[in-house]
Amino acid sequence: MVIFFIFIIGLIAGSFLNVCIYRIPREKSLLYPPSHCPQCENPIKWFDNIPLVSYLLLKGKCRFCHHSISIRYPLVEALTGILFSLSYFFHPSLNILFFKNLIFISFLIPIFFIDLEKKIIPNSLSYGLIISGIIFGILTRSFFSSLWGAGLASAIFLAIYLVGYLLLREEGIGMGDIKMAMGIGTFLGWKISLVAFFISFLFGAVVAILLLLTGLKKRKDKLPFAPFLTSGALISLFYGERLLHLYLTL
Ligand SMILES: [Zn+2]
Repeated sequence: MVIFFIFIIGLIAGSFLNVCIYRIPREKSLLYPPSHCPQCENPIKWFDNIPLVSYLLLKGKCRFCHHSISIRYPLVEALTGILFSLSYFFHPSLNILFFKNLIFISFLIPIFFIDLEKKIIPNSLSYGLIISGIIFGILTRSFFSSLWGAGLASAIFLAIYLVGYLLLREEGIGMGDIKMAMGIGTFLGWKISLVAFFISFLFGAVVAILLLLTGLKKRKDKLPFAPFLTSGALISLFYGERLLHLYLTL
């Protein structure tokens, strides 16, 4: 029952994250004006703004101009609902640690979609991630673990950045990726962040090779890295301890 309630909260949070994904990179206010169709600018009525349900009822089209609504909207809502529910599933207690995970997820989802679409990670989100990670570190008495996490992340990612720049004369990862990795470090602590970064690089390498082999991307094409960092961070959030234990016992 609780998990169903949390799923609904996740859907509503996802609806707000959709606003963030659209407005933050366009430097628009998150609060004003209220939701409107980006095509015909007609305001969206409350009954057309119910997560998932409205998209299905409207068959993915604006009520006024019939312009199709991006599949990203219901996708982000469902994803947030599922990830919020998973947080409770893995940590069935409504305490500060659970709340910390919800905030972490709420930063990762917009970063994932904004980097995918615009190939940027807005500073407001990466700094927000770092600062809230440190605040939660203080609140959960793991401040030094957060600090070490950020330190380790900046060391690893700066090294990769410098090697890429000096040897290949290209930026394999950007400054935004470094800041995001630091934020992940503050939330996960240094041990679990290591697992997260390892998974991110593994996924990144596999996808890059697949894209090259299938000819979908060329060698010079840039691949946004935040989606891989997000995937690594989310898997480690739920399975990090187990994966680390598995690795150490091998
Ligand atoms: Zn419209």
